[in-house]
Amino acid sequence: MPKKNNNSKEPVKEEKVKTNSSFQLVRGVKDVLPEDQAYFFWIFDQVRELTRSYGYEPIETPIIEKTNLFVRGVGKQTDIVEKEMFSFVDQGGDHLTLRPEGTAAVARAYIEHGMLALPQPVKFWYWGKMLRHERPQAGRLREFHQFGFEALGSDDPMIDAQIIFMTYKIMQQLGLEVTIAVNSIGSEECRAQYKKVLLDYFRTKRSELSDVAKKQLIKNPLRILDSKEDDLLPIIEQAPQIFDYLNSASREHFLKVMDYLDELDVPVILKPTLVRGLDYYNRTVFEVWTSDEKTSQQSALGGGGRYDGLVELLGGRPTPAAGVAVGIERLVALLKEKEIKPTLDYQPDIFVAQLGEEAKRKSMLLFEQLRSAGVKVAESLSKEGLKSQLEKADKLNVKYALILGQKEILDGTVMLRDMENGIQEVIDQKKVIPEIKKRLDKQLKIQAELVKGEEIKSDI
Ligand code: AMP
Repeated sequence: MPKKNNNSKEPVKEEKVKTNSSFQLVRGVKDVLPEDQAYFFWIFDQVRELTRSYGYEPIETPIIEKTNLFVRGVGKQTDIVEKEMFSFVDQGGDHLTLRPEGTAAVARAYIEHGMLALPQPVKFWYWGKMLRHERPQAGRLREFHQFGFEALGSDDPMIDAQIIFMTYKIMQQLGLEVTIAVNSIGSEECRAQYKKVLLDYFRTKRSELSDVAKKQLIKNPLRILDSKEDDLLPIIEQAPQIFDYLNSASREHFLKVMDYLDELDVPVILKPTLVRGLDYYNRTVFEVWTSDEKTSQQSALGGGGRYDGLVELLGGRPTPAAGVAVGIERLVALLKEKEIKPTLDYQPDIFVAQLGEEAKRKSMLLFEQLRSAGVKVAESLSKEGLKSQLEKADKLNVKYALILGQKEILDGTVMLRDMENGIQEVIDQKKVIPEIKKRLDKQLKIQAELVKGEEIKSDI
């Protein structure tokens, strides 16, 4: 019923149920449709398999955390905390934030569950949504997905190298050529000394700095090194380099990481201006970039480093740690650009088709019997016409279609159609499953022989 306006006798117009267009996505977020899900699951499977062998265990932290976790952990003067957090006060008065990144929450979980008592290092991997209120543009969303590896409880440079190597390996398995940019930003003391030198240097260039850079100069001159402004690049290139200000322990640590990466044949480039935008990093920092300079991808696919001070900063005991986070949407965009398709993990061999009500009923059962017997099977039972069902079977590239019609129902048979040559045979309904299995096994053997033959040929 229309509502009455208090001030007049005129009924207030009920807000018209708007057309579909009024229910659109919130700015900067995306539906992950089946086409992209295929990529997501493909990447997920690679990550899960790799982490399993390297002893990284899955962890899932909540999407909401206390706001202070990120203010403390990520750092008050970082872009994330200053302008990108989705924060709110809930009904109970708690200050909460939708997580913008994964590491701080993993460190919180490590402390909260007393994992210091476990054999160290404790190694995790995660996969999940992150939210940042950024300006939406290509490769930059407000809700996106990351996977990450975190190893807490070891300061061995081998851990840094392992995390970098695993990240590289995932990219390689996906068919992507990447380069890893690495740097060391040393300890807090090294950085304090370096910041002074950097401040002095940028002061001499003050007139050439942009307004943003001038602000960063006051807050944290390291951030200027991260700038993407073209005009600043020559000044940044000439800036003093942090490597010259590393203490011997940091320097030794970094050289060992580089040595291990060399041993593992990971393509790394030293990037003295790489500092990363989050405050918890120390010593090793790195970013993953596509090696293809012609790509439209202008941003890193992932990044990480050591965060030896984070656990203590959040109230735990001193615990050295290292990790990485990789953006899934950016990976998918690059895979698509390179026309790399996810390997299908479900290629059906058999299609069940039917004609008529009774046949439809029986087909539902036949489909389930085949599926339970381990046969990869597909259907389109809601379709009526045989032609459209067979078209679907063709599209799915199945080897055989099983067709049930009125006649077959009466005879207790099924029509078996070889989709490659169109030859049809009648088989006994009771023997369908063993017959199908026999034929599929035979095909597998023929394929294996063919592959073997090809291998022998290429050996000769
Ligand atoms: P960060 O923790 O900011 O270094 O992010 C690690 C990775 O997450 C980046 O290299 C991106 O691949 C991805 N990422 C970060 N922010 C966004 C965003 N706003 N939209 C999409 N991907 C992002």
